[in-house]
Amino acid sequence: MNVVERIRKTFVYIVAAACVAMVAAYLAGVKAAGQDHDQDVELQLGQQVFDELKAKGEIVESSPLYDQLRPISDAITRAAQPQYNHPFKFYLVHETQPNAFATPGGNVYVVDSLLYFVKNSEELAGTLCHEVSHTIHRDAMTLMEKDQKLTERDIAAAILLGHPLAIALLGKLHSLSYSRDVESRADITGSDVCAATGYNPWGLVWLFQDFQNANMGQIPQLLSDHPGNQNRVDALEKHFRENPSVFGNFNSDSKSAKPMSVPKDAAEVFLR
Ligand SMILES: [Zn+2]
Repeated sequence: MNVVERIRKTFVYIVAAACVAMVAAYLAGVKAAGQDHDQDVELQLGQQVFDELKAKGEIVESSPLYDQLRPISDAITRAAQPQYNHPFKFYLVHETQPNAFATPGGNVYVVDSLLYFVKNSEELAGTLCHEVSHTIHRDAMTLMEKDQKLTERDIAAAILLGHPLAIALLGKLHSLSYSRDVESRADITGSDVCAATGYNPWGLVWLFQDFQNANMGQIPQLLSDHPGNQNRVDALEKHFRENPSVFGNFNSDSKSAKPMSVPKDAAEVFLR
C-alpha cells in the first residue's frame, strides 16, 4: 500500500466513524425528544383538567383543611417524588362524593369531605399514596390511550386543537374505570410509598374494612369496588407478610391510630 492509498483509507475510516457518531447522536436526540414529548403531554393533559376544575369553581385555594392535608401530602411528596418526573401537587376540591383522584402531570385532587370521612391520618395517607401510585404507573395515560383508542401523539394533537379531553378523563376518573389489577397494583406501590413516609400502610386496609361496615350510600366512589375490596385487602396483607423488613414494625390494629381532628365546617376560599 503506498502513502496516498494509506491516507485515502484513513480518510475513509474517519468519515465512516464520523457518520456512525452522527447517526448515534441523531438517534439519541430523537429518543430524548420523544421523552420530552411524553412529559409535555402528561403536563398538558393535567393542566387541562386543572383548568376545567377551576372553571367549575371546585378548587379550594385556601382553607384550614389544608393544615390537615399538608403534613401528609408533604411526606408523600418526599417519598414518591423520586419515582415521577413532575412535581406532585395536592389540591382540595369541593365535590359531593368523598373522593380523591390523580391526573397525569403530578396533580392530586382531594375532595374536602374525604377529610371528614376518614377515621385517622393513616386512612387518608393510604388513599393519597394509592393515588400518587396511579400517576407513577401512568395509569390515567394508559386509560386515555386504550379507551379513547388514542396514541400519545393523538392526545398531544387533540390538546393542541383544544379538544376537551379533560372532561372525558375526569368522567373516567370519577367512574371507577380502572381494572381491579390496576387498582391492586396502585395499592401495593401505595403501601410502599406510605411505609417510606412513616404513615402506617395498614391505613388503606382499615379504610376498606370501614366500608364493609358502612352504609353503601356513604361509600366513597374511589374504593366502592365491591366485592373486589376483599381481593385488594388480601393482596395488601400478602405484600406486608412477604416484606417484613418494610412492614413488620407497623401495627395492624386500627385502634393504634390517632383520630383526625378536622375543624367542623371549615371555611373555604375557591380559586377563580
Ligand atoms: Zn385507584
